[in-house]
Amino acid sequence: MDALPVTEETGLPFSSKVKGVMHACGHDSHVAMLLGAAKIIAKHRKDLKQNVKFLFQPAEEDGGDGGALPMIRDGALEDPHVDHVFGIHVMSNSPSGTVAIRSGPIMAAPDLFKIDIIGKGGHGSEPNEAIDPIFIGAQVINAIYGIRARFMNQVNPLVISVCMVSSGTKDNIIPEKMHMEGTIRTLDETMRAEVKKKMGEVVPKVIESFGAKGSISFKENAYPVTYNDPASTEKVKDILKMIPGLKIIDIGPIMGGEDVSRFMEKAPGTYYFLGTRNEQKNLTYPNHSSKFAADEDILKYGALSHVLIAFNFP
Ligand SMILES: [Zn+2]
Ligand SMILES: [Zn+2]
Repeated sequence: MDALPVTEETGLPFSSKVKGVMHACGHDSHVAMLLGAAKIIAKHRKDLKQNVKFLFQPAEEDGGDGGALPMIRDGALEDPHVDHVFGIHVMSNSPSGTVAIRSGPIMAAPDLFKIDIIGKGGHGSEPNEAIDPIFIGAQVINAIYGIRARFMNQVNPLVISVCMVSSGTKDNIIPEKMHMEGTIRTLDETMRAEVKKKMGEVVPKVIESFGAKGSISFKENAYPVTYNDPASTEKVKDILKMIPGLKIIDIGPIMGGEDVSRFMEKAPGTYYFLGTRNEQKNLTYPNHSSKFAADEDILKYGALSHVLIAFNFP
């Protein structure tokens, strides 16, 4: 489930058999925990007071179109209707035996933007005869970072990062075009709309003011904010306290994005992280590293948390 294009170097006996592909984000452990929970819940199903569905969410790593949306379209949240959604992700920077949780926004909405600048190519020695898209691109990057610093509410988290820039072929040729892409992370829909509006106004003006043509576009239908419903989250925290040996840590929001937000937009619920870092076992590599491995001792906590929620929520 949801492997990444990374060649595994964990040396584990259950290492990936497919070269160049591995479970570098721990989605194999998510499957194991939910299957474990399903086994226990099925065994005690006569004691259940409500229906329980198991959502194995694929393609979280897909970055935009994800797996939750097609599952919802295919009816995963209907018949019987789903009222609450709960989910887990393993987290390498929290110690094994901890669960990291928060009420309200826990992960950001990740918006993708693309900018194209079309200038006029020429000789590197005669920039005055050309319209240099690289110079203009530099002004655009400054302007974008200035939007965060000078136009947005400073107490509301916002990340804008230009992460990809491409232009040019040779040291003495001014190219005709420049292309860049980046990400915007916000924790509420007002800020999200505001920053995109401002970027849409400023970027084309900066490009045009230097004589080039250009455009900015945003990926439509990017993931929403992953929002932990406060009432559900308080109940989940109480339920998690029933697990001996598990420590609950209240965390701040994370500016990463999560496809599970699609489910939680439809049904309130709680998403939490299971710490998997274990220095004694040398399990310290971050998610997405070729040496990432989850501490298997956490699987019982994850599976048990699913089981306890199924039987005790609300
Ligand atoms: Zn990942
Ligand atoms: Zn992941």
